[in-house]
Amino acid sequence: MKYIILDLEWDSVYFPPEKRFINQILQIGAVKLDENLNVTDTFSVNVCSSLSNRVTSRFTKLTGITSEMMRSGMDFEKAVEKYNEFCADADVTLTWSDSDLYTIIENEKILLKSKLEFEIKSYLDLQKLVQDELYNKGYESKNQVALEAAAEFLGVDTEEYELHTALDDCRLSAKLFEICYTVERFSRFLRNAESPDFRARLSFKPYPISDINDKHIRRCELEFCCPKCKEKARKLNPWKYRNRWFVANFKCDSCGFKFNGRVAFKKTFDDLQVKHKVCEYKPKKRKKDAVQSVSEKVQSTQD
Ligand SMILES: [Zn+2]
Repeated sequence: MKYIILDLEWDSVYFPPEKRFINQILQIGAVKLDENLNVTDTFSVNVCSSLSNRVTSRFTKLTGITSEMMRSGMDFEKAVEKYNEFCADADVTLTWSDSDLYTIIENEKILLKSKLEFEIKSYLDLQKLVQDELYNKGYESKNQVALEAAAEFLGVDTEEYELHTALDDCRLSAKLFEICYTVERFSRFLRNAESPDFRARLSFKPYPISDINDKHIRRCELEFCCPKCKEKARKLNPWKYRNRWFVANFKCDSCGFKFNGRVAFKKTFDDLQVKHKVCEYKPKKRKKDAVQSVSEKVQSTQD
């Protein structure tokens, strides 16, 4: 078994076609480990941005990479090809938290013309594995632990590493991997990166559903029962969509109780998350003291 520990440094760069900032990968670092977890080879490449001729001062401060260094870097496509050659004989790729994976997926999608992808056969989130060991040793925070903080907690001297350079972050990660590795833990956190779901799941962005007729919504999810007597309540007016919630007034014909029912839907990769709320009945405001939008006026004539 051979392992790759991969680390990326990225900068926020404006991407004109989508009128937004993206995290562009500007340095790729990696170490290769043998079956005894010894470092046998290293990889480090600066990438020349295709979108900007300078880096942010924040990026330089953090990584030591100047605009000049970035400009003399390698074309991204070439860098990925080189990286894939480097890790061709490796079985498992590890990164410190899966945020690198999200950046990889985005960069592949918008910056690589060909079908070129970072070579990842199996994947393991090293942060999860290390944090598991930290919990054994009394670490308590539920938040994701930073590499440096984890090293300090485990008593590893970080002085000899230049943190936030991709290669040295990999070297330090390798050290923590060696300390925290157990066969059981390794198999528990290992993921198959070649299954079709792996990249699809990472590139999927959960979104709120704003169309009441969306095919993912089941009719029964739009029904409300009376909070007083549990009988099925009757909807009094059409659904309105406000702030990610569908809102309508309801009346229980059995006990006469009126209430305001709210339901929200969020589509995730695997399923649909549904939230229900029962609020106080909102009688319609009289027209003279209510500023109503045109659509509300239309709906109130239908009620
Ligand atoms: Zn009732």
